[in-house]
Amino acid sequence: MTADILEVDDVHVRFGGIVALDGVSFTMPKGKIVGLIGPNGAGKTTLFNCLSRLYIPTEGDIRFKGKTILDSPPHHIADIGIGRTFQNLALFSSMTVLENVMVGGHSTTKSDFFSNALRLPGRGREEKELRNRSGELIEYLGLGDVAHSIVAGLPFGTQKRVELARALASSPELLLMDEPAGGLNHVELDELGSLIQQIRDDRGITVLLVEHHMGLVMSISDKVVAIDFGRKISEGTPEEVQNDPEVIRAYLGTG
Ligand code: ATP
Repeated sequence: MTADILEVDDVHVRFGGIVALDGVSFTMPKGKIVGLIGPNGAGKTTLFNCLSRLYIPTEGDIRFKGKTILDSPPHHIADIGIGRTFQNLALFSSMTVLENVMVGGHSTTKSDFFSNALRLPGRGREEKELRNRSGELIEYLGLGDVAHSIVAGLPFGTQKRVELARALASSPELLLMDEPAGGLNHVELDELGSLIQQIRDDRGITVLLVEHHMGLVMSISDKVVAIDFGRKISEGTPEEVQNDPEVIRAYLGTG
């Protein structure tokens, strides 16, 4: 049994004549935080979209727990144990925090949730369990005081926390985080870093962090993968990667 929960195996993505990913391979050890970095246009978003199955690689494979994810339709990705957060928060802003987290707990699409919600009175026990689970998650993420508040009125940093709770509600084994640091102040950034480590340590969740904020990536990642022009240029501990001449060259544009 492999200790790697995710294997990215020689992934290529082409958009017409543009090569966005050119044979990227790396593995993610179970229960670790892996940071994915690269300058603008390096291919991070494209890879993230492949991992969340929004894109299918032109060549190569992505295996989660030893099994290809390429057969799973995007809306089933949460069912197999892969959760994600969105750069632009995917929250229902006129709903409460609790309701948003409950949406995440439904392993279905948003539209399915609303059609299910219309039938909620007839689904008593399931609904109660979901409510309890969501409530526990809300407490765990320090959102207890705002559980019944409407999301739109909450500070941005709190909304980001709600987004994390929503993603965790489907009980993922692998959590893909798309630039979670964007728009956060220093205090919120520190809190986010601690929270991601807490999720790894308490729940054994493996985290892929796609992020421009080097301070966050280097301080909390167990392993860092750097890509540039669609190719992996470095892989290792944060210290190894930030001292790698290839990475320095990619970011500074100098030889
Ligand atoms: P950034 O940090 O600026 O978000 P990135 O590392 O996420 O960049 P990608 O967005 O994955 O990089 O882009 C990789 C390359 O693929 C770029 O050259 C980009 O222009 C190209 N690309 C991405 N998506 C598409 C698309 N849908 N159609 C055509 N080209 C695309």
